[in-house]
Amino acid sequence: MRGIVFDIDDTLYCRQVMLIKAAEIVLGVSIPDWQEFMRVYYEKSDVNMQMLESGEVSTHDINGWRYNETFRILGLPYDPEDGGKAADTYLELQSHMQVSEDMTKVLDAFAADPSIKLGILTAGESKHQWNKVDMLGLDRWFDRSNIIVSGDTPYMKPDIELFRMFESRWGIAPADLWMIGDSYKHDIKGALDAGWHALWINRRFLGPQEITPDITVESDKELTDALTKTFC
Ligand SMILES: [Mg+2]
Repeated sequence: MRGIVFDIDDTLYCRQVMLIKAAEIVLGVSIPDWQEFMRVYYEKSDVNMQMLESGEVSTHDINGWRYNETFRILGLPYDPEDGGKAADTYLELQSHMQVSEDMTKVLDAFAADPSIKLGILTAGESKHQWNKVDMLGLDRWFDRSNIIVSGDTPYMKPDIELFRMFESRWGIAPADLWMIGDSYKHDIKGALDAGWHALWINRRFLGPQEITPDITVESDKELTDALTKTFC
């Protein structure tokens, strides 16, 4: 028996496209350097994750602040209310999000294999993350009892306890467990520290990290190819 645990954002669907599109719609300009935009935005996302998970601030307010900070740092023309507007637009775009055709095929194959357990480990505000589970229709492949939103637990990614929860729930040893995610710090490092295998989707094209994951890919195509090759 093997267990495969997925992150949601920028793993089971590509969030970056929607984050940038929302900024472009509100500012009425095209973002010249997507990679730099996402680098700054994610840097700001790391600042107050704890406040978000504890419910001190809402996802909408935090996203508005992240947008304004990113606009300011990149020297994009903006009004103070544009961050909030971009956060609204992003939420609207998110209501139409889908799991890609290729990822659907991979998940269908995994779900049909009795020797594979599928789980989700996601960070963020509980209500917001469960909404995504519903909007993406993830319970087609993932039993709800195998979905852990860190906001529902006393722990934050990459706390090793979150990984231990899957081990005890499934009775599967760390060596037979895999974490699939896009954040080295939150998904990959935690899994490797727990003795798991890890597949890293390095969407931000970062350089070598502290511990080298078992597999590193840089695009959705490479991701689904690697999943098929490794588990099918
Ligand atoms: Mg992610």
